[in-house]
Amino acid sequence: MSHKSKPETIAVAAGRMSAEHFGTVNTPVYRTSTILHESYASLKAENEARYSYGRCGTPSTESFERAVAELEGAARTVSVPSGLNAITTAILAVVSTGDHILVTDNVYGPTRRFCHGALKRLGVETTYFDPTIGAGIEELFKPNTKLVFTESPGSLTFEVCDIPAMAEVAHKHGALVAMDNTWATPVYFPALKRGVDLSIQAATKYIGGHSDVMMGTISVGPDLAKQVTGYARDLGLFAGPDDCYLALRGLRTLPVRLARHWGNGLTLARWLEGRPEVARVLHPALESDPGHALWKRDFTGASGLFGVVLKPIPEAKLAAFMDALEFFGLGYSWGGYESLMIPAHYVRTATKFDATGPLIRLHAGLEDPADLIADLEAGFAAMEAA
Ligand SMILES: *Cc1c(COP(=O)(O)O)cnc(C)c1O
Repeated sequence: MSHKSKPETIAVAAGRMSAEHFGTVNTPVYRTSTILHESYASLKAENEARYSYGRCGTPSTESFERAVAELEGAARTVSVPSGLNAITTAILAVVSTGDHILVTDNVYGPTRRFCHGALKRLGVETTYFDPTIGAGIEELFKPNTKLVFTESPGSLTFEVCDIPAMAEVAHKHGALVAMDNTWATPVYFPALKRGVDLSIQAATKYIGGHSDVMMGTISVGPDLAKQVTGYARDLGLFAGPDDCYLALRGLRTLPVRLARHWGNGLTLARWLEGRPEVARVLHPALESDPGHALWKRDFTGASGLFGVVLKPIPEAKLAAFMDALEFFGLGYSWGGYESLMIPAHYVRTATKFDATGPLIRLHAGLEDPADLIADLEAGFAAMEAA
């Protein structure tokens, strides 16, 4: 299939193997450890076999990985057991002891924990950069800088990175660019086309889409395919066939769901901007957002996740607001069909994020937007009354 196809078509058509499975539309779940070989000779030629052992892939993993790869415009996609595992594997696959990496200051919390924990112990140094630094990142490069790790828009505070500008600098210095692209997915941000070398998805979120599976993917071009798949294989990483089946079922409707998440999210963001309880809405698709111009240039859409800075209130009022909500579940993760909210706790070390009051994160699900607005309205009434 041509990579020029639209995401909606790729999501439906990619990775299907009906001819090899009696015409079934979906590739069945292959639960297996052992794969039997026909003869002594074929067992000895095991390394050339398409399937050799359960951990090394089955039609279930292959269908899913091929579909994600098509959507990403990648040579290879590797599926791993969680989004965080995709992040740590992508980093470890390309750095060695003595290397230096640059990481955006608004990065997902567990990524930061990995960098100053496990990665530091292996002798890899991390410097955090201002997410809005753009080409100015060049000043932070050292002779041993191997990787720029980005996330855009970044977790919790939603600043947009100038990925093409940073990628140009990184490549000039012989470094690679990895991106946690979970927010936009390849449907709204074609990361590899924008200069990213390792495109990472927490497939737990929008790809799975139904809050019932945990998985991650790393997608790369031909130059890194052997290195990344080989590293994941050496570590024994493997995504189970049932999870691959669920994630692929989610992926089939990804573009359709995203369009609704985008619409609902923006409707809520605009409504929240007009509320007296709100100090600032953090959503790059809003014209008022500092990242809006970059978002408009580089992204083709927005997902349903965004932040809201409230005006200062006592914690009891925040609790009353959240406890009054009916359709917004209070819980971690996002990207499923349902709306969610959390109070957000962010960590910064290179830059300051000025929040006058509490920061909350909303995920707009697929519900009717008027019902969601009514829910928030009831929450604000409970906040007022508390
Ligand atoms: C949730 C999340 C991850 C981690 O995914 P898991 O599957 O929960 O490990 C990574 N990056 C971002 C931006 C996330 O929101």
